[in-house]
Amino acid sequence: MGLHVVDHPLVEDVLAALRDKATPCDEFRRLARRVSLLLAVEATRDLALGEASVETPLETTKVRRLAARVVAVPVLRAGLGMLDAFLELVPQAQVGYFGLERNEQTAVARRYYEKVPKDLAGAIVFLLDPMLATGGSAAMAVDGLMGLGARQVRLLSIVAAPEGVAHLAAAVPDSIIYTAALDRALNDRKYIVPGLGDFGDRLFGT
Ligand code: URA
Repeated sequence: MGLHVVDHPLVEDVLAALRDKATPCDEFRRLARRVSLLLAVEATRDLALGEASVETPLETTKVRRLAARVVAVPVLRAGLGMLDAFLELVPQAQVGYFGLERNEQTAVARRYYEKVPKDLAGAIVFLLDPMLATGGSAAMAVDGLMGLGARQVRLLSIVAAPEGVAHLAAAVPDSIIYTAALDRALNDRKYIVPGLGDFGDRLFGT
């Protein structure tokens, strides 16, 4: 399994503000977008390029353009906070949606919606789920995407807990995770600590 903890001063700086409970909702959204951009840059570093040529104002030159087919799948609802940033970097990406709801008492996820592009086998799928906590919903989403034909799924999470990483690794041994922070643990309510609280609530002001 590949765990990539993105090590970058800008990531640290944005995380500091995301973690701060005094950060208001509108600022939290902007910060979520910023850190998602940084994660997406790392997670797309090895995408395939194809040869092409363009006319500059002066001459014809060889260029390289993105050749990989990319699909972004935000996990509803918190993953929506990462989608715009991803699409800014990869505007040609197709978009699918996975609806997973976490039961507040048991922390067990339930799949209630899915709509993904056809032919996932030929695509690199980027699953956007900001908090890798127990790993239950991530494993359900990765497994669900593979069941729909995906061969390569990369999970982008802003904060991950060791428990979630271990759970996903056990469920999907060759899973690939990009995260901005590997935090200490889960608390007894299955929130990541120190974490940044309920991502969806902070993003949407609920
Ligand atoms: N989901 C969140 O939004 N935050 C956590 O800490 C864990 C799961």
